[in-house]
Amino acid sequence: MCKAENCTEIEKINMDYLCVSVGQACNLRCRDCGNFAPYAPKDMMHYDVEEIIDKLNIITKYARIQTLQIQGGEPFLYPQLEILLDYVRKSQEIKQCLVATNGTVLPKVKPEYLQGEKFLVRISHYPVNSDNAAKVQKWFRLNSIRYKIYHFVSEEDKWFDLGRKYNPGEDVESRFENCLFKNCYTFENGWIERCARALVAQRIMGFKPKNFGGGYNGEGDYLPVYDEENFRYALKKYISSPHAMEACRYCNGTSGTMQTAPAVQIESGERWEDFND
Ligand code: SF4
Repeated sequence: MCKAENCTEIEKINMDYLCVSVGQACNLRCRDCGNFAPYAPKDMMHYDVEEIIDKLNIITKYARIQTLQIQGGEPFLYPQLEILLDYVRKSQEIKQCLVATNGTVLPKVKPEYLQGEKFLVRISHYPVNSDNAAKVQKWFRLNSIRYKIYHFVSEEDKWFDLGRKYNPGEDVESRFENCLFKNCYTFENGWIERCARALVAQRIMGFKPKNFGGGYNGEGDYLPVYDEENFRYALKKYISSPHAMEACRYCNGTSGTMQTAPAVQIESGERWEDFND
């Protein structure tokens, strides 16, 4: 019979992917940002790194993460990024780390925080600010930092029009079932959500999530991260749930034909409502 601590090791949940949002602050103002970054409220701009690490410690007590993606907003604007990268480098339970950037912000972190096989910078292919993009890529090359250019999942680098003019409908479960983002589990501000859009969408669009109180047993739209033994059970249940979130009712998902030009910039002061008539 195994000793208790070994059993705990064996029972760790395997998560292929977890995204961590450091906050929605971004230098770009993309009208169709899937995460609503240009419209996000002030309290969602930057999350405290100690709180992020505290919750990652809990998650990795019960789960192993194959790929942790750090994203914003724009993560290279995040003032506490070095602390988070250092934590990720030292964590035995995080195998790989992707830093997802729009590629137009020269990193202020010291290069050594991004060097090595564990880290890969993923530069989204945005048709904006190309002078800066060349400088940023040069910085990565000069500092031997691994990076790749990421082309969007939809055709011809177009974006999915997830919700500027969404079609609310009864087909929400099949929309979720067919959504390419449904397993993009994201940790944001104390909660795990099925995709990086849902929590911000709730704030912008003002809907109520389903079964909020049921979150603690993995049956709600979002899973709160808490350090108790039944978190393991709740996490397992949550990541295997076949059910859509309320956010999916307010989203087009990725199975339709609604695609839009990437990175269309809005003016300062323009709101999400201005594009949703
Ligand atoms: S359909 Fe649901 S899972 Fe897919 S992007 Fe929209 S809110 Fe996220």
